[in-house]
Amino acid sequence: ATHFVIEGLKASIEDKEILKGINIEIKGGEVHAIMGPNGTGKSTLASALMGHPKYEVTEGTATLDGEDLMEMDTDERARAGLFLAMQYPSEIAGVTNSDFLRSAINARRGEGNEISLIKFIRQMEAKMKELDMNPEFAHRYLNEGFSGGEKKRNEILQMLMLDPKIVVLDEIDSGLDIDALKIVAAGVNSMRSEERGFLIITHYQRLLNYIKPDFVHVMMQGRIVKSGGPELAERLENEGYDWVKEELGIVD
Ligand code: ADP
Ligand code: MG
Ligand code: MG
Repeated sequence: ATHFVIEGLKASIEDKEILKGINIEIKGGEVHAIMGPNGTGKSTLASALMGHPKYEVTEGTATLDGEDLMEMDTDERARAGLFLAMQYPSEIAGVTNSDFLRSAINARRGEGNEISLIKFIRQMEAKMKELDMNPEFAHRYLNEGFSGGEKKRNEILQMLMLDPKIVVLDEIDSGLDIDALKIVAAGVNSMRSEERGFLIITHYQRLLNYIKPDFVHVMMQGRIVKSGGPELAERLENEGYDWVKEELGIVD
């Protein structure tokens, strides 16, 4: 069964330490949410997990089924089953969405096990329909000129097609109106299974009304300072973050 363990993870940007020792354990079937004020390191965690070159991991491990992702390059992490939807997806001129998706799927499946073109197109069309995406987006350059909401749906399209073991979604709810949010949440919920774990990073509780987490973690100043169940997210929605700071004696 899927088992993802982040242990003592520290990361810096330009020699400034942002992540100060993150510990999270996710088992297949579980949905974990990370909430926290702006600037506390949530996206840094996502970027460090992906292996973004700007973020230097200085200590700690993140193992997926016993293999340390931090020892792998970004492609290998994806092949191992890690999927990340970034807060700000990149635009890639000259590469169409469908070309990008097909090579990502084939990289994940490995040499000698490539998906046939027919099967790929059929799957992509079905998933795009599920997400209420205009079919023309298959042939547009990756994220180029996509609206915020279109980029988010496109990230979810990639998730649906890549069959990852661990899904990390960084503010997938930002820029989505309520109808798009419901579509995205339905896509995520359709992927919930015993074989897969989720780490959902969000600033707002609203998303968690549609994707019910099993565990909620609060991140502040580069640390997980509090963990609980869904009721923790509701309290944060009603009362903000100040009570957590007071409880922990955090001054900012
Ligand atoms: P969050 O996602 O919780 O809002 P971030 O991880 O984006 O927080 O940012 C954490 C801290 O790291 C902030 O102080 C931010 O200014 C800094 N930071 C993030 N990305 C960069 C970057 N590329 N260059 C310099 N500083 C950065
Ligand atoms: Mg932010
Ligand atoms: Mg962020």
